This record gives sequence, structure tokens and C-alpha cells, in this order.
Amino acid sequence: MKILFLDQSGKLGGAELSLTDLANFYRDNCLVGLFCDGSFKELLEQKNIPVTVLTNQKINVRKTSSIIDSLGSISSIIPLIAKVAKLARNYDLIYANTQKALVVGALASILSRRPLVYHLRDILSADHFSRTNRWIAVTLANRFSSLVITNSKATQAAFIEAGGRIDLTTVVYNGFEPNNYRIPEFNSHEIRQKIGFKQQFIVGHFSRLSPWKGQHILLEALSECPSDIAAIFVGDALFGEQDYVEYLHQQVTALNLEERVKFIGFRSDIVPLMKACDLIAHTSTAPEPFGRVIVEAMLCDRPIVASAAGGVIELIETDKTGWLFPPGNSQHLAQIITTCYNHPKQAQTRVNQAKIQATQRFDLHAINHQIDQLLQQLLS
Ligand code: UDP
Repeated sequence: MKILFLDQSGKLGGAELSLTDLANFYRDNCLVGLFCDGSFKELLEQKNIPVTVLTNQKINVRKTSSIIDSLGSISSIIPLIAKVAKLARNYDLIYANTQKALVVGALASILSRRPLVYHLRDILSADHFSRTNRWIAVTLANRFSSLVITNSKATQAAFIEAGGRIDLTTVVYNGFEPNNYRIPEFNSHEIRQKIGFKQQFIVGHFSRLSPWKGQHILLEALSECPSDIAAIFVGDALFGEQDYVEYLHQQVTALNLEERVKFIGFRSDIVPLMKACDLIAHTSTAPEPFGRVIVEAMLCDRPIVASAAGGVIELIETDKTGWLFPPGNSQHLAQIITTCYNHPKQAQTRVNQAKIQATQRFDLHAINHQIDQLLQQLLS
């Protein structure tokens, strides 16, 4: 089976990291076509996964775009659609990994007469997308895709709620290779020294900087916690959220947290960094489609606290494998952080359970095979 994967992003978000793991499985028989150059292409090249950048022209549709904006941009993507359609004739199917990839992939699938698979990794709700963009995604998926893989039940439910056809959908969680989260020689003290914290207890936040990822909620919570607790924020503003970054820095000053907070930017060595933390916090204020960071924390043997919305509820069993708090409720988050700080043994019990569950439920090998079976069925 030969697959043409499509992804709009040049940068490394969760969708791109998940696609890397899947494309690696098909590396001898696939091509990843990107709509943008950047670090995603570099990662695929490092892993010897065939990749090509299909256009250098920016596609000016944002998640909040109106119908006029969206229609206006269609003419600009016609050459890209023609290129993908021509390329697709050498492949058995087109696999769209993002929204813009769906638009291009749907039209290219008609021209090339190749089946289209849509891997939906977004919650199609008003929190994340304009009405127009939801309508476009659902209409194209309903009309042109043969299969919609959703990365959680929450993602599936939002697709159906937006008008998507239930019969097209199958839920497949993201896969993780547990061995990638083991480090034999690991010196937590050295990493903490490099980060430059004196505090005993470090809360880690691993996510791109964006208002709905809720970094400000963790800052608010930190100001309510004992002063021996600090936080590191790992990740960058990937999609131009510079105002929010400035706001976060102002918040640090206003809450007098300068000695207890560090922003260390985007890092590719997240495993040692996670292991050097005492607790991982996931603070999205809107429903999260999946939340890779949660499973990564579990595989790194770290306690996890996350806001209870979207796919997150499917990943954490509250009171058993982690802690959940209502989205946006910084006081509740502060209480949980303080509990973990005061009761490390209680946290360790949940860590042990979480590791067992994560290893069983999100095994990369099993999940890649599950997707492979779905694709084989489709082609037969
Ligand atoms: N991540 C990373 N470096 C960073 C920050 C985040 O590699 O500096 C990774 C993180 O480990 C996770 C992914 O980016 O694998 C984010 O995925 P998630 O599902 O949590 O959020 P998304 O980006 O899809 O909204």
C-alpha cells in the first residue's frame, strides 16, 4: 500500500509528531507532502521518511476565517491541488492530517480518483473554529472521504455534532513507543541545575504558548502555592501568539513570580526535562482533542494534573491515574499541586497505575497496526 500523507504545517505540533510516528511505519511506501517548509520537514528527513514541500505560497485561511476569506483563498490553492492530484496517481490513497490538507486532499482525490482518509485531530467546535471552517471540514469529509479517523471520542463527538457522518468515523488514539520514554543514565539534579531552579518542587508545562493552552492558569495557581514550588514552561508560540507571550511575562511580574518561573522555549529533549519535574500540568481552557503531553507524562513516570475537558477525560482516570480539575479553575489546580507537593507517596501510587495503563492503551506498534488494518479494508 502506497500512501500520500498531506499536512499543512511546517512546525512541530502534536498532529505533526503523531503523523511522524505513523509515516515512519510506512516509510518505504509513502511520501509526506507539506504545505510549508520548516522543522517538521527536518524531523522527517532525520528519520529518513520521504518528504517534499509542495508549495511555498502561504494559504491565508485561519481557524477563525469567514466564508469570504475562505472562498477568496480557494483560487490561490488551485496549483497546489493540481500538483497533489498529479502526485496522487502514484499512490493508493491520500491521507489528510490537518484541515487545509483535507481541503486540498478532497479536491485532489476527485481529480486523481484516489480514496481520501481524513485523520481528524481537532475538536470541530466554536471554541476552535469559525462556523465557516466547521462547515467546510464537515462537508468535505462527508462528501469525499472514505474514512475519518478521530484521535478521541471527544473529537468524534464534535465532528458528529457539527454535522459529520458517524458511519465514516473510527476512534484511534495516538500511539507512543514506551522505550522512547526510558533513559538509562539520567541525572535529574544536573538538569535542574541547568534550568537554574533552587526550589524543591518543579511543575512542568509542555505545550505551545497559546491562550487556550492556559499557561496563565498555571501562573495564577502558582501564586497560591507554597513558595518552594516553581514552574517551567516548555514550548513556543508556534502560530504568532506574541501578544499572549507578552501577557504571560507581565503576569509573572505582577504576581511576583520572577524567581519561580522559567520559559525555556521549544525543546526536542522533552523526556529528560519531564523526568526532572515533580508534576506535569496540562491546563487547556477549551476541550483538548487528545493531549499527547498527558500520555508522555505517564510514560515518563511523572504525576499528571489536567483540565477535565475533551479527550483528556478519556486519558486520565481521576483518583487513579492522575488528577483532573475544572478548566480555568486556578484555585482548584493550586490545591492539587499543593497536595502532590505534600503527599509524594500518594502521587507515586497514581504514577505506577498510569504507567501500566498508558503502556497498554497507547502502544505505538498496536495502534499503527490498527490503522493499517483500517486502510487495508478500505482498499480491498
Ligand atoms: N512538545 C515538544 N517540545 C516543546 C513543547 C511541546 O516536543 O517544547 C511536544 C509535546 O511533547 C507533545 C506535543 O508537542 O508531544 C504537543 O502535543 P499536544 O497533543 O499536547 O498538543 P497540540 O500541539 O497537538 O495542540
